[in-house]
Amino acid sequence: MIKPKTEEEIALLRENALIVSKTLGEVGKAVEPGVTTAALCKIADTCIRDHGAIPSFLGFEGFPAAICASVNDVVVHGFPSDYVLREGDIFTADIGTLYKGYNGDSAYTFPVGEVDAKTQKLLEVTKASLYKGIAAAVAGARVGDIGHAVQSYVESFGFSVVRELEGHGIGTKMHENPGIPNYGRQGHGPRLSEGMVICIEPMINAGGRGVYLAKNGWAVHTADKSNSAHFELTVVVRKGHAEQLSTFDWIEKDGKFKF
Ligand code: MG
Ligand code: MG
Repeated sequence: MIKPKTEEEIALLRENALIVSKTLGEVGKAVEPGVTTAALCKIADTCIRDHGAIPSFLGFEGFPAAICASVNDVVVHGFPSDYVLREGDIFTADIGTLYKGYNGDSAYTFPVGEVDAKTQKLLEVTKASLYKGIAAAVAGARVGDIGHAVQSYVESFGFSVVRELEGHGIGTKMHENPGIPNYGRQGHGPRLSEGMVICIEPMINAGGRGVYLAKNGWAVHTADKSNSAHFELTVVVRKGHAEQLSTFDWIEKDGKFKF
């Protein structure tokens, strides 16, 4: 049994989602060729703390930084570093907060300057697949309906879904039940009920779906070195629709990232 959140809990999750959304916006302003991923992490860390929150990833199961900073073939869980972003790279910031005892968690893959056409398509399709997943997250549907919506869309473009990682419920813990795979069968899996708060987060490879874990035990890479994109939002399951708690509005409002 997965207990839906009360409206009071949802309000606290919404506050977290807002901080994460604004932080992604601040990071986005600074994404450009020549910046290090460590510098982007610092911007996020400062923004989160300025809002009175804590970067929940720092120390989570031993993770060493405030955000996950994943470049190009890194799917998720990259460490911020002195790597200097170059024109044509893609950079994923995955950001989590802990505020008033609840969690926020969202991610965005930014193009660094101009990227090649296939990479641009990967970003477009991955982000669109997230919204397909969100559209399927309605009360009475099942978790498999979300995964099916993401997978069928992504695969129609020849991209592939990473299966080793998935979305999740969120609350006082960053990762709660149910798991939300980005593949699945319609009508299968746990039933979604009104008030459940979940993070949907397609992780999509330009090439094959295979991945491997780096020697540091964290960074997940594509097996074929193809680029991978990752977009994540937090939503509340409602009757007939899902309510977005986090948003990419702060990233996209100035038109720097259009896709
Ligand atoms: Mg995340
Ligand atoms: Mg997540």
